[in-house]
Amino acid sequence: MLMHANTRMNLTAIREEGEAWDKHIFDALTLIPMLAELEDGASVIDIGSGGGLPGIPLAIVMPKVWFTLVDATKKKIEYLDQVIDGLGLKNVRAINARAEQLGVDRGKRTPDGRVDAHREHYDIAMARGVGQIAMLAELTVPFIKVGGLVLMTKGQRAQEELDAAKAALHLLHTNHAGTIETPTGRVVVLEKQRKTPRDYPRRDGEPKRSPLGIGKKGEKKAMGNGQ
Ligand code: SAH
Repeated sequence: MLMHANTRMNLTAIREEGEAWDKHIFDALTLIPMLAELEDGASVIDIGSGGGLPGIPLAIVMPKVWFTLVDATKKKIEYLDQVIDGLGLKNVRAINARAEQLGVDRGKRTPDGRVDAHREHYDIAMARGVGQIAMLAELTVPFIKVGGLVLMTKGQRAQEELDAAKAALHLLHTNHAGTIETPTGRVVVLEKQRKTPRDYPRRDGEPKRSPLGIGKKGEKKAMGNGQ
């Protein structure tokens, strides 16, 4: 379905099916060990899911965990809805939204007494290929409960990005819990220590334009050394 839809819209640069199995499906499944301890009924959110990665392959193999896939592009959500329908997946929903807006949604009380919030609701947030850690932390951390995890699928530059994200993680009350080497790359794991301050996420586009602790591209940072 991914390869087929990719002829109509831009979901992946990979056009060859064998390569897509390795670099997309298998790569998504490398997160299984990090999700293995979730209890039945736990909830996971995939931010910037695009063509459904890593969310869809994981939802197929973990039918007792609830998956929410979020993407800012309407066409991609329409594609994901077709996949969910076509595969008959009952544990997945796809939402067309920007993470900056959904991440401040504290929900309303439903008739049966639950609160259908997105903020501070999920056990795990994950993201692959959406941006650097400092920016992505601001888009993902607000969604998880205190004690919850963020899993970021990363490549070679994981450590460099982490070093640049120190201030962002501090502001978001989040620790680097570890980096796990996988057969296809590495997964950076963050753990939320306390509730996310109300200031985050900032408004649409701001986390990318001016990542926490890094600032705008080309903007000279004050060095504090009198120069
Ligand atoms: N996770 C997929 C797609 C990566 S491309 C994969 O690994 O293949 C990045 C995706 O993130 C795009 O589909 C884009 O629409 C989405 N995105 C970027 N910024 C976003 C934001 N602020 N909120 C929601 N989705 C966003």
